[in-house]
Amino acid sequence: MTADRSRAYEEAVRVRLAAARLWAAHRAPYLASAVFALNPVILEPAAHDDTGAPVADPEFRAFPADTRWNLYVEPGTALATPVEEIGWWMLHQVGHLVRGHASRSPARPRPGREAAGAPARGEEAHRWNQAADAELNDDVVAEDLPGPAGVISPAELGLPAHRTAEEYVPMLDVLAEAMGRGGQALAEAIDCGSAVDGRERTYEDAGSAGGLTRLDRDLLERSIAAAAVRDRISGRGEVPAGWRRWAEERLRPSVNWRARLGAVIRSGLSTVAGQVDFSYRRPSRRAGAYAGVVPPSMVRAVPDTVLVVDTSGSVTGDVLNRLLAEVTGIIDGVAGPGRRLRAFCCDVRPYPVQVVRRAGDIALTGGGGTDMRAGLAAATALRPRPDLVVVLTDGRTAWPERRPAARVVVCLIGEGGHAPGWASVVRVPARVPVKGGA
Ligand SMILES: [Zn+2]
Repeated sequence: MTADRSRAYEEAVRVRLAAARLWAAHRAPYLASAVFALNPVILEPAAHDDTGAPVADPEFRAFPADTRWNLYVEPGTALATPVEEIGWWMLHQVGHLVRGHASRSPARPRPGREAAGAPARGEEAHRWNQAADAELNDDVVAEDLPGPAGVISPAELGLPAHRTAEEYVPMLDVLAEAMGRGGQALAEAIDCGSAVDGRERTYEDAGSAGGLTRLDRDLLERSIAAAAVRDRISGRGEVPAGWRRWAEERLRPSVNWRARLGAVIRSGLSTVAGQVDFSYRRPSRRAGAYAGVVPPSMVRAVPDTVLVVDTSGSVTGDVLNRLLAEVTGIIDGVAGPGRRLRAFCCDVRPYPVQVVRRAGDIALTGGGGTDMRAGLAAATALRPRPDLVVVLTDGRTAWPERRPAARVVVCLIGEGGHAPGWASVVRVPARVPVKGGA
């Protein structure tokens, strides 16, 4: 393609991007500053052999982004995509960016885990992309903005709404397997770029100065969150539930951890309970009405929960005791009070299991380093096997590479440390205030 033609296409692409930005900012006013912060990087077009016109490359249909807020635009794709759809993808990519999907990604490269370079996107990264899309599209769809054809939608797949990407991963695994047996694919393979999984793409120019710094991103997120809360209060526009929650947590993380902890544990308990709700163990009392057909009876199963407490010495006993009281209070609220609970302490190795009725009965022992690989292996080796494992830790530990055979909720204490992508995570402050305070 000649330089002149290339410039003409680039100009046409810029005009479309400008129109798409206006459309997106108008549809979601609280995201306007975010939409304008996206930095479009126009890639070299793939040209048609005969006509020389740019050809759309499906790899770029999602207008993939990186974590510096660069939006990679492939000219053929941009010229072939309606303006509204480009705007939709802009809102979608902003969602990946501000919700930190790249840093939450279980497929992001970690030191010592794999060789340098950008290896092919594996199954894990692909599933994570779909789960992150499910988390976002809920809200974009709720705004009466139906997504482009082929994108993941929890409603269309019959999945529960308003879950996190971490929660959608196992649901999509089950669904994909079932659909695969019927010869169907779950959804089209859409790649949203390194903004979703933290894996650098070959088309990214890592050395360029373009895009936002960490500080820019932080300031931008705070202003988006403030705008979302302001728009909701003033009634200027609909702010979807997921964005409202994100904004409130972003602005007041220390106040809302308790509510979030409750929501995550209750969600873990009810998902587990939901898996065994239909049971043939007891025939329904109305069985006679069905003339020979025995319907499954609804059993309110109480999920079996195990607490794993990091007693490595970097977390103080005072904080652990208060957190344990919070966690057991939440479990009592769902499962009924006074239920026996299994718990054990773990530093570099797991200690014997304690069966307790109250948080205060748990004896905290341990010290030194932490290895939660040992803790989780011990938890899932218990018989009967727990449905839900709640881990209390500062996250300064190695974690198992793969998701264990139980749902895991991690209460991550303090600012440092990390939790694996396959777990549901709630960050709690290192200084846990007495209940009633904040
Ligand atoms: Zn996406």
